[in-house]
Amino acid sequence: MSQQDKQQRIDTLSERLLRYQYEYHVLDAPTISDEVYDQLLHQLIDLEEQNPQLKWSNSPTDRVGGKPIDSFESVELPIRQYSLDNVFDENSLEKWVDRVSRAVAVDKAELEFVCELKIDGLKVVLIYESGNLVQALTRGDGLVGEDVTHNIKTIQSVPLRLSKDVDIIVEGEVWLGKSDFVRINNERASDELPLFANPRNAAAGTLRQLDPKIAAGRNLSMFVYEANLATDTHIEKLKQLGNLGFWVNPEFAVIDSISGIIDFYDRWVPRRHEQNYDVDGMVIKLNDNKLRDEAGYTAKSPRWAVAYKFPAEQVTTKIEDIVLQVGRTGVVTPVAELEPVVVAGSTVSRATLHNEDEIKRLDVRIGDTVILQKAGDIIPQVVQVLTEFRPKNSKPYRFPKQVEQCGGDGSIERIPGQAAYRCVTLDSTELLKQRLTYFASKKCFDIDGLGPQIIEVLVDENLVKSYADIFRLQKNTLINLDRFAEKSADNLIAAIQESRQITLPRLLTSLSIDGVGEEVAKLLVKNGFNDLEKLEAASVSELERINGLGPKLARNIFEWFRASSNMSMLDDLLAEITLKQIKPTERNDLEGLTFVVTGTLKKVSRSDIKKIIEDHGGKVGSSVSTKTNYLVVGNNPGSKLKQANEIGVKILTEEQFYELI
Ligand code: NAD
Repeated sequence: MSQQDKQQRIDTLSERLLRYQYEYHVLDAPTISDEVYDQLLHQLIDLEEQNPQLKWSNSPTDRVGGKPIDSFESVELPIRQYSLDNVFDENSLEKWVDRVSRAVAVDKAELEFVCELKIDGLKVVLIYESGNLVQALTRGDGLVGEDVTHNIKTIQSVPLRLSKDVDIIVEGEVWLGKSDFVRINNERASDELPLFANPRNAAAGTLRQLDPKIAAGRNLSMFVYEANLATDTHIEKLKQLGNLGFWVNPEFAVIDSISGIIDFYDRWVPRRHEQNYDVDGMVIKLNDNKLRDEAGYTAKSPRWAVAYKFPAEQVTTKIEDIVLQVGRTGVVTPVAELEPVVVAGSTVSRATLHNEDEIKRLDVRIGDTVILQKAGDIIPQVVQVLTEFRPKNSKPYRFPKQVEQCGGDGSIERIPGQAAYRCVTLDSTELLKQRLTYFASKKCFDIDGLGPQIIEVLVDENLVKSYADIFRLQKNTLINLDRFAEKSADNLIAAIQESRQITLPRLLTSLSIDGVGEEVAKLLVKNGFNDLEKLEAASVSELERINGLGPKLARNIFEWFRASSNMSMLDDLLAEITLKQIKPTERNDLEGLTFVVTGTLKKVSRSDIKKIIEDHGGKVGSSVSTKTNYLVVGNNPGSKLKQANEIGVKILTEEQFYELI
């Protein structure tokens, strides 16, 4: 980056971040997520560290919180309030521990920490005189806060009178429960009022109401975690606060090693959505109060504490290129190639942009800075373009008319009534290889040993030009190929032999009919289309009547059976294979129940558990809804767990699932 580019990037980031801070702290109406904000702030911190001469004198990186708003009385805080430094991975955590150890001149092996949950709420300072609550102030800009005593007094978990007549200043987090947040937003929606972005902003907005009746009706809560009590350790302080009548979050631990901190963190990452309050990480604090005093503060944060934020589920990255990918059914999908970025714990460098309409809707362009998130558990998705960071000469993306991978002249056409394009002809070798690979895969013909590399060779050597050709392969031909020896050729021929018998749903799944996967194939058979003749004869309206099929899919299936090339291919294949009758399900103990699975299971794979559920007559859904009966949860579950908790879906561990069946 040239010096001019760096200055420009610092200017843009500083200007935008000041705006984001204002929207968040003053208006209680953020326009981007905290995760994205944190990332941009860290980009600016890095740039400023490398180029201190370019830093703004009023940089957003130097600020604690926002200015108090005018409608409340501004009051000087009795104790200076700070922000917290962040670490995002084990490496930066270790560096922080090293820094603390140097600052207090104690070997890191001797240090003791308290790990607490980082509640995503609003910091409030409570002032008690002779055991009575006299004032409550927001953190404001760290020096001056807003007097919100009238609203704090409505919070049931804030004691108005303590169990002892002490003068004390207490710090803690005011939060709004997720269920109350949903309720309040529903009420606001029916009153046509703007919705709160998240529980934290709803809590902040509530504390800034002039009328305490509004706060009383919203059901805020408060956890406390700090006070000017003279104790030797932080843990004793927490205990005393509890004894005085405060609500201290019980999920804390005293830990004496970095590996212990990492264990605590790893245990909480999958559980982060389980609580009724939002948690965005954990806070690690020195336990020994004398050492804390020695460590002291920087201009913005204590040296004795740090926030270890949970892995971001939303991040920013750059679009390096937009490429077109052709699937085995000939559908052309635009894919964004990204500057690699870690999102929800794994590195992502590609994300589907779905189709031309989606590109237009997002107006996503090569060179853009975008917000990326993981939808559901796994699929990375571009959700927004940050146009303020767009390069000056960028041009809208134009969808091409030809795509080389289609074969022939590469022409593509828009599928009637859909946003997707597909190749006009499907005769490229590239597509044939993809279709054959899918045909031989586990959920289709399940031919052991016939993977993409072998298929590549067989197609390139002109030995396989169609599905049926697979079944005509001879051991002698295979042995002549570099990749095969006597035994491997025998094995492949045996595997092919074994796969000749197949059920109708599997056969239908194997044919690469656009939109017909395992689920749809089963649905067709279940709904009376239990032989090929019936399917060939089915009209669009008959197919449409199947619950769960939809008009687009019905038309795809209808048209597939009308294409003579498909029919001759099918006849050719049927001459080589035998259709096997499906055994009626022996047990139907999960009949009528819908399951969703999330996270990594210990005993079986996701596809195996799906099969078990279906064999027992149950259904497997891909997303949690009010129709879901059970969510089966493995390790590192994603957002589905949160959704299930919110709508009250029953949760089963893997073990509980086995008990159920
Ligand atoms: P911070 O939120 O990263 O950490 C400090 C705060 O953590 C403390 O002030 C306290 O309120 C809170 N906290 C929760 N649990 C705690 C515990 N157990 N012990 C101690 N403190 C605890 O730092 P910040 O300076 O408040 O940062 C502002 C926050 O606001 C960040 O999370 C940032 O993402 C967000 N923000 C978002 C936007 C946006 O546009 N989305 C804009 C500005 C700020």
